[in-house]
Amino acid sequence: MITAKGYAAQTPTTDLAPWNFERREVGPHDVQFDISFCGVCHSDLHQIKNEWFPGIFPMVPGHEIVGTVKKVGSHVTKFRVGDLAAVGCMVDSCRTCENCKDGLEQYCSNGNVGTYNGRGKDGLPTYGGYSNTIVVHEDFVLHVSDKLSLAAVAPLLCAGITTYSPLRHWRVGKGHKLAVLGLGGLGHMAVKFGVAFGAEVTVLSTSPEKEVDAKKLGAHKFVLTTDRAQTKNVKGYFNFILDTVSAPHDFKLYLSLLKTNGTHICVGIPPKPIEVPAFSLLDGRKRVSGSSIGGIAETQEMLDYCAEHNIVSDIELINIKDITQAYERMVKGDVRYRFVIDMATL
Ligand code: NAP
Ligand code: ZN
Ligand code: ZN
Repeated sequence: MITAKGYAAQTPTTDLAPWNFERREVGPHDVQFDISFCGVCHSDLHQIKNEWFPGIFPMVPGHEIVGTVKKVGSHVTKFRVGDLAAVGCMVDSCRTCENCKDGLEQYCSNGNVGTYNGRGKDGLPTYGGYSNTIVVHEDFVLHVSDKLSLAAVAPLLCAGITTYSPLRHWRVGKGHKLAVLGLGGLGHMAVKFGVAFGAEVTVLSTSPEKEVDAKKLGAHKFVLTTDRAQTKNVKGYFNFILDTVSAPHDFKLYLSLLKTNGTHICVGIPPKPIEVPAFSLLDGRKRVSGSSIGGIAETQEMLDYCAEHNIVSDIELINIKDITQAYERMVKGDVRYRFVIDMATL
């Protein structure tokens, strides 16, 4: 086994703290890479606090992972020692179901293996990127361009693909009015992609102070959702709402902002089930849809697109010792726009 060090939550009620653990030896198809940076996703917090479902503890979170390859197995063809490498939210899937064959490993009928808070085919728990090194089957390791800032690339592995994938699926682009609901880690990437794809982008936010940033990110409009006069102005206005909100919120209000045949896409995962009044859907034949991360090929496509168009995340680099404070700020919506852990501080 390989000895690894990281930060773990020992229980859902304890803060993250240093923890040593073991990873599997590098198998014939595995890549081991040393982690340089790991993004901090709101899903990390949901999971260490058991907000969705009972987790596997101790838990080492982190699924926005970038670094440099240290060792490759004898059958590995895609990577060489010294290459940049990245891993997102999954490290394996069954590879035989219809979804896996279609490149939709995130929807694997047998359940994909999460980068952390999951169990590999060996039955052992998986541990994420708040750590110094990781071992992953090469099929689930991505290539990263050396043209972009590596720290700012890390959030693309979750925040990036989670917003890129639904925008591509729904072919959002020129002629569409897209609302991005919530300007956090996912939201700010949604703005960048929406603008790059040619849509008219409006940020719907509860934070008035984010208006300046929204415009800097390329958004054409900003609506403060706590101001009734402002939301009234955009009633029936949008073709799509990409909903990145992490807490319970008012679907009746947001659905009223869609045009006829408009689509509300949930990517945010509030801990409680959402409440959608049937009338809000009937009136205008609207639909509520969802999307989970993206498949491996699509994640590579997104990374390549970002390299070509010079798109990265806006980040605040943190010392791993400050992770609990970073979570507190994230819950308050006070992150511009993604915390990334500098793993050299481990
Ligand atoms: P984040 O950085 O904390 O951003 C969430 C944003 O939502 C906040 O910045 C805030 O924006 C808004 N918000 C928060 N509480 C709100 C409330 N009560 N009412 C209205 N707006 C509120 O989180 P994130 O990392 O982007 O993640 C967002 C959500 O997506 C989380 O639930 C996460 O678990 C989920 N997620 C899903 C997937 C997937 O595959 N579908 C992947 C990754 C993450 P404003 O200040 O602008 O209002
Ligand atoms: Zn995530
Ligand atoms: Zn499968």
